[in-house]
Amino acid sequence: MKIGVLALQGAFREHQDMIRLSGAECIEIRQLSDLTGNSLDGIVLPGGESTVQGKLLRELGMLEPLRNMIKAGTPVLATCAGLILLAEKIEGDPVSHLGTLPVTVKRNAFGRQTGSFEYTGNVGKLQNFLMTFIRAPIVTALNSQEVEVLAECREQIVAVKYGNQIGLAFHPEINDDPSIHREFLDLCEKFHNGIK
Ligand code: GLN
Repeated sequence: MKIGVLALQGAFREHQDMIRLSGAECIEIRQLSDLTGNSLDGIVLPGGESTVQGKLLRELGMLEPLRNMIKAGTPVLATCAGLILLAEKIEGDPVSHLGTLPVTVKRNAFGRQTGSFEYTGNVGKLQNFLMTFIRAPIVTALNSQEVEVLAECREQIVAVKYGNQIGLAFHPEINDDPSIHREFLDLCEKFHNGIK
């Protein structure tokens, strides 16, 4: 199995470590050929700055091919800025990026004072998962009945799943618990084996 981590900007190295620790091969996606020439079984969109990542994806001609791969079912794990890239709508912004995940997000939603914090709670079936938020977005609307809420924090939605797309407002890659990455790799394995 081969997983591609978008490595244009932001916190991508920690994701690579998690993926490799969990036993899968991992490559960096830096240009179009990395995306199209590797028959990837899964894609990770890391945290960072969504405006910068979106701009680079457009400039490098990767936005449309990436969107098509996700629409075709390639599993994607998106954290923080990655969730913003996936979202169909971004509050206060007329333009979205990939737009494959039918939710509305609000950027930097916890305010400056509480820009970074930790919270322990359930994420789907995982109990007591340590969630680290860094200038995190929240999901303010679910735009399809098929979007499943995986986690809430401070009465806000902070993790969702829609088909093979997992969107998290927090950063599971910077703590020691690989459970979310393992669940993502299970999805990738099913996709790899042709099970949708
Ligand atoms: N605030 C960033 C954005 O809007 C996301 C922060 C992060 O990825 N840690 O893109």
